Amino acid sequence: MVFFTESQQKFRSEVQEFAAKELARGAKERAKLDHISERIIKKLAEAKLLGLTTPSKHGGRPADSVMIGIMFEEVCKVDFSPMLLLLSHVMVPLMMNWAPEELKEEWLPKLARGEKLVCFGNTEPDCGSDATAIRTRAVYHQGNYVLTGEKTSVSVGMQADAMAMTAVTKEGAGARGITCFFVPLDMPGVSRSRFADMGCIPAGRASIFLNDVRVASKYRIGGEGEGFVKVMTGFDITRALVVLATLGLAEASLCEVSEHVKRKTLFGSPIGHFEGVAFKLAECATWIEASKLLSYQALKLRDEGLPHTKETAMAKWFGAESAVNVIQEILLIFGADGYAQRNAIEQRLRDAIGLQIGDGTAEIMKLIIAREMMGSRFVPVM
Ligand SMILES: Cc1cc2nc3c(=O)[nH]c(=O)nc-3n(C[C@H](O)[C@H](O)[C@H](O)COP(=O)(O)OP(=O)(O)OC[C@H]3O[C@@H](n4cnc5c(N)ncnc54)[C@H](O)[C@@H]3O)c2cc1C
Repeated sequence: MVFFTESQQKFRSEVQEFAAKELARGAKERAKLDHISERIIKKLAEAKLLGLTTPSKHGGRPADSVMIGIMFEEVCKVDFSPMLLLLSHVMVPLMMNWAPEELKEEWLPKLARGEKLVCFGNTEPDCGSDATAIRTRAVYHQGNYVLTGEKTSVSVGMQADAMAMTAVTKEGAGARGITCFFVPLDMPGVSRSRFADMGCIPAGRASIFLNDVRVASKYRIGGEGEGFVKVMTGFDITRALVVLATLGLAEASLCEVSEHVKRKTLFGSPIGHFEGVAFKLAECATWIEASKLLSYQALKLRDEGLPHTKETAMAKWFGAESAVNVIQEILLIFGADGYAQRNAIEQRLRDAIGLQIGDGTAEIMKLIIAREMMGSRFVPVM
């Protein structure tokens, strides 16, 4: 990417080398596992890639947003299986900036070392896009909060040791009534169940049920009523990361098909000689490049302290849609081979579709873009 600094280029080479050495072997098989491999978690932790938003004093390796984007792209080109864990290990330490010091000291070093895993629970049944309509309640009682409700679609939900989550602390106050909490998942009253998904299988998307779960006040992240804004600010980085991860899948597929079309011969000629094929590859490369530029631009704006909500939303819908289209086109160029499970392409297509939905759908991204352009008065429903 033209605007990477020398240290960002250096970091890119480091992650590329790490991914080739530690992640490439067995990646295709790991995409079908129902959990994220412990060996891979250990490797990521040793490379300090689980603590890129964790302060050094808590065992992290703070990196700028562009570098975090580089990590998502390069890791996911090679092994997509830990992607949603990497995402929650970016999002939750960012939220923990507002947590009491005691909580940070207890959890952040363990998360950075991969000894404990964390997930992020915002979505609830029937209020995914409409995040102000959540129904999980947190009622304050004698120094504790009592949490009741269901968080659903939680990535890493089956494997995580703790969940950062949102809950309503003030009825009828909409976004201003939402507060963030950090909940160890071995607390009495917690239960979970897994979804059987078509993609992102190792993430083990789950529902997490909270039945009168009692947590001390120190588990509240930030002030009461501040949760919604904190979560939305977090999405302003994670959405760009999700896209770069998905583009990693598209780039890996493009690399493979570019070799395939030179080898595969039909009608007396390598299929790459046919314009119908070559033009498709040219289009795929352009979709990927345009999506990467949007994503890295959003991350760079963030690093420079400039507004980036609109740019991140643009990157998210355009990039995720491009990645899915590119992978599908490439699958078709592979013909029946691309449709077979022994080829990685079909799984990549399943994974990428999940991330058109996760972290916000195209329609919601377009509403955000329109709102940022014209003001909330001119946005149909939000
Ligand atoms: C792979 C994956 C991982 C996920 N991981 C997590 C996680 O870790 N934590 C978490 O909290 N959640 C997670 N989610 C949930 C995700 O954030 C939600 O699925 C997403 O926000 C959409 O919500 P929904 O599925 O309830 O769809 P709905 O909100 O029910 O939307 C249904 C459809 O209506 C459209 N729509 C909704 N409102 C409007 C509108 N105003 N105008 C036009 N169209 C509209 C949507 O675009 C969508 O097409 C994950 C989801 C997936 C698929």
